[in-house]
Amino acid sequence: MEIYRNYINGRWVESTAERFLENKNPANTDEVLGLMPLSSRDEARAAIRAAVEAFDKWRRVTAPARGSYVARAAEAMRRRKEELAEALTREEGKTLRESLGEVQRSINILEFMAGEGRRLGGETLYSELPNNFIYTVKYPIGPVAIITPWNFPVAIPCWKIAPAIVAGNTVVFKPASYTPLTAKIVVELFEEAGVPPGVINLVYGSGGTVGEEMINNPAVRAISFTGSNEVGSHIQAQGALRMTKVQCEMGGKNPVVVLEDADLELAVEGIVQGAFGSTGQRCTATSRVIVEQSIADQLVEKLVDKTRRLRVGNGLQPNVDVGPSVDASQMHTVLEYIDIGKKEGARLLCGGSRLSGPEHDKGYFVAPTIFDNVSPEMRIAQEEIFGPVLSIMRARDLEQALALANRVRYGLSASIYTNNAAAIFQFVDEIEVGVIHINSPTVGGEAHVPFGGIKATGMGWREMGRAAVDFYTEVKTVYIDYTGRKRETNIY
Ligand code: NAP
Ligand code: MG
Repeated sequence: MEIYRNYINGRWVESTAERFLENKNPANTDEVLGLMPLSSRDEARAAIRAAVEAFDKWRRVTAPARGSYVARAAEAMRRRKEELAEALTREEGKTLRESLGEVQRSINILEFMAGEGRRLGGETLYSELPNNFIYTVKYPIGPVAIITPWNFPVAIPCWKIAPAIVAGNTVVFKPASYTPLTAKIVVELFEEAGVPPGVINLVYGSGGTVGEEMINNPAVRAISFTGSNEVGSHIQAQGALRMTKVQCEMGGKNPVVVLEDADLELAVEGIVQGAFGSTGQRCTATSRVIVEQSIADQLVEKLVDKTRRLRVGNGLQPNVDVGPSVDASQMHTVLEYIDIGKKEGARLLCGGSRLSGPEHDKGYFVAPTIFDNVSPEMRIAQEEIFGPVLSIMRARDLEQALALANRVRYGLSASIYTNNAAAIFQFVDEIEVGVIHINSPTVGGEAHVPFGGIKATGMGWREMGRAAVDFYTEVKTVYIDYTGRKRETNIY
């Protein structure tokens, strides 16, 4: 059985841990893929030291050269695409088609970020004074901590590590404990690309031990985190104590609004894909449908019909649409929310339980579930479930739909289905999210455009696209005076 090793200062080193977590296949718990060590704080410190030592050299490598390492990592990922996608399905559970999609998206991200090495720069500005000018220039921050969730265990590490190192920072990376194998492969790709020792370090371990060391160690100059709000707000608070830059991308409760003129078939396709794709385990998953009263019954009937026909099972099988929950505890959370929904008085239309039988007994499979007559104060309308559960609410008109859509603490993504141009622009103006989709599902994001949420979802820094490097750089502002004379005007 493989025991995953930490990667510190360019070497794969066995952890001194005495305790390990089994990396199980959530579709077949008989299959144990490897053992993840619960590394110590000392091991995390060793990784941080390596990142500190490597920083001084790495920041002096030119930005285009740093970008070319990332370009080589993209090539390496393309060569190992199938292997990486299969590992992803085996340890996280999403279908092989979805895994191939995530890996392709990661290749796109690496390719795009490689080019940022050539585009990195600042602005040139006129001064208020004659014969003066001003420019800005971006510098790296230092060693950064990268802490990631299990649900996009290839793409999220890539969209953080790539801009971090292109900008000249060094990295200590702690992946989620459910997905150590994909983390290993991602780091191997950067190793194959020739990234120098110490620039990227990987430490396996619990959030409470390795994670705590990373967020509290004064040598770490910035922390980029994606995960739950509980952990994110704790990290934000710890960062504030040390005045460390913190980026947090957290939960969602993403709505789809369907207006009465919408193409209903298109809306049904998009909602089912958004709600049940990746087993609903996406930060951008559709978890609420807000539909105009006049077409609600029609939409609901079509949604239930399509959802009942989804095939749930092991994502390695080609005919499967929906994989398992990542783990027993995640599955129990989903089942608990289904119970809560019933008790709150929502109407269960389909699904609602764990699946059993020979195909399902060994995995964490929950039937795709739809609740109707959900009211906005119910917990299933307010809280992130992170599983295959969809809530339906009805609205009088666009105004009421918007009010319902915005009545949650989160603000990640949202969709509207309509052909009314005025309604579309009103939706864009009023909806409180960071990513908007028109006539398409709430999920997905392209490598070259900014991604992130508002309100309780995000702290303002965007990921992906050109905006991604902002978090990983400091701006210096430079005033140049070529008058050669004493200043007459006060500068303020
Ligand atoms: P999580 O429980 O918050 O864990 C995220 C990461 O934080 C893991 O690596 C975890 O380590 C680590 N961690 C836990 N406690 C820590 C601590 N005290 N100090 C430092 N690190 C700590 O989240 P998750 O369950 O993996 O992921 C699901 C969540 O991620 C959902 O809420 C989802 O919406 C969100 N998400 C958001 C986005 C976005 O872009 N907005 C994208 C994807 C996912 P362990 O694994 O060892 O516990
Ligand atoms: Mg696993």
